[in-house]
Amino acid sequence: MKLGFNEATCMKKSSVEDDLRLCEKYGYEYIELRLDMLKNYFDKKTIKDLQSFFGSSRLKPYAFNSIENINFCSPAQWDALLSLFKFGCETAQAIGNPYLIVVPTMGEDMHLKTKKEVFFDSVKVLDKLANIAKPYGVKLAFEPIGDKRWCVRSLDQALEIIQTVNRGDVGLALDSINLFLYNRLENIDSIDNVPLEKIFVYHIDDCENLPLGTLDHCHRLYPGDGVIPLEKITKKLHDKGYNEICSVELFRPEYWELDPETVIKTAAERAKRFL
Ligand code: ZN
Repeated sequence: MKLGFNEATCMKKSSVEDDLRLCEKYGYEYIELRLDMLKNYFDKKTIKDLQSFFGSSRLKPYAFNSIENINFCSPAQWDALLSLFKFGCETAQAIGNPYLIVVPTMGEDMHLKTKKEVFFDSVKVLDKLANIAKPYGVKLAFEPIGDKRWCVRSLDQALEIIQTVNRGDVGLALDSINLFLYNRLENIDSIDNVPLEKIFVYHIDDCENLPLGTLDHCHRLYPGDGVIPLEKITKKLHDKGYNEICSVELFRPEYWELDPETVIKTAAERAKRFL
């Protein structure tokens, strides 16, 4: 697999400019830019600046993060979502960034939705968004989030949805903590059911040993420092023939306080053995 960096990892103290420079310096092949950080970047820089960086660097853009809360939108929420989505598509097309991550809706009431309601809504929304993204050449990576506050939690559920959508430009983003947040990955063999061509993105991260319900994204750790069976996940991905991005995505407040260069360097060293 190819080493990638997700900008969530250093998002409090870093910037698009710094992340680009440091990822190039520490040997990453891909970067996943964040839409909010890109907006800040464009306060002072232009799309030409970004094109010129990627034109002369080994580092390449891979997936934008992220369009969130895509399910059960009110008309006002949908308008706001579409505005960000179109910004993402236009920027992606301009710099040759192939994927956009889309995330199911989070809310304390999401567990009250039936599987059927979630299924039909997800299929409808993903198809709608993929139609909008198509002219820009952008593909959608749908990322299930294991915790019960999110409406699409398990890999099986997400797979059923994207297989029903049944289009080449809609696939999955697998994230090791998001897989683990669902039953502590007791269903690890679900990975075997995902066709290779449907794995668009792989986010790698580890986490502290905390009970489900307490364990959250702030408990993410460098790969290898926690309890997620990353060797097993890696083996399953290798066996399948997956050799695309393996992107370090950490939302840990403790790391946000550190110098981004230290974190970006350490993350590269830790992730390498899982490529
Ligand atoms: Zn992720």
